[in-house]
Amino acid sequence: MANFLNIAEKITKNQFIAEFPNDISFFLKREDLLHPEVSGNKFRKLKYNIAEALEQGHQNLLTFGGAYSNHIAATAAAGKIAGLNTIGVIRGEELGGNLTKTLAQNSTLKFADSCGMQFKFVTRSKYREKETASFLQELKEEFGTFYLVPEGGTNALAVKGCGEILTENDKEFDFIATSVGTGGTISGIINASGKNQKVLGFPALKGDFLSEEIKKFSSKNNWELILKYHFGGYAKVDAHLIEFINNFKEEYQIQLDPIYTGKLVFGIFDLIKAGYFPAGSKILGIHTGGLQGIAGMNSFLKKKNMHLITD
Ligand SMILES: *Cc1c(COP(=O)(O)O)cnc(C)c1O
Repeated sequence: MANFLNIAEKITKNQFIAEFPNDISFFLKREDLLHPEVSGNKFRKLKYNIAEALEQGHQNLLTFGGAYSNHIAATAAAGKIAGLNTIGVIRGEELGGNLTKTLAQNSTLKFADSCGMQFKFVTRSKYREKETASFLQELKEEFGTFYLVPEGGTNALAVKGCGEILTENDKEFDFIATSVGTGGTISGIINASGKNQKVLGFPALKGDFLSEEIKKFSSKNNWELILKYHFGGYAKVDAHLIEFINNFKEEYQIQLDPIYTGKLVFGIFDLIKAGYFPAGSKILGIHTGGLQGIAGMNSFLKKKNMHLITD
């Protein structure tokens, strides 16, 4: 347990990736290597929440997510390590009809189940009520009291944990670039950034609400959201993105995921080519992990007769 909370003190490595014309260099912070099961930013987001749940004497951790969610997989694994029961409220009532079949077809849920997570499958409309007092009360009646981790894991304690992604050594970078889902990760990074650094967020979904989310957790203004690399929306991909991920893997031996980090690195490379970065820029991209999502994406790609992600 103590080991789990302390692994974040291990400083993750910044790996040099490539030098581009005009003396522009690109590095990746390998947060994906932080923990084999609680990868990258999900570890950062859960760390202080789990400490708080234990401090408050909770035995149950409850959270929400989609059926392929990195957050669900990470919460299940983290709960197991910390000795907390986990309950996952999952979008998609139909998945609960035949659990054996669902688990056979969904490696994310299969993994969460193997960590002992209990599932409650709900309809999409019920899922939208997830933050209402009445639904939370229903859940308490069903599962007993619990420590609530929001969908995607973003709250003030998560942002605090994400502030630890950056260290003193990272002050040499001019740009820090990260993928954005709910905005928790980038908020922590902004809070920890130096005032001469610029933080770039690459939303993995279409969403004009993200700036407001980020402003709730951070008050600096040395950041910008780059809105054109969502590839059509959350978990949407095209053949170019898949090809980019596969080529990147072949060239640098680093796996990117299709939901977040693939879009991020694609976007950074595209902006470099387009002359967005001034000469001499040192860019640090954050590899936030998320590789467990590849299997789910590949089963989707297979059905569509598209090229698969090589892993
Ligand atoms: C969840 C996730 C993100 C998004 O993090 P937010 O804090 O929700 O913005 C980025 N990358 C990966 C790999 C993730 O799993």
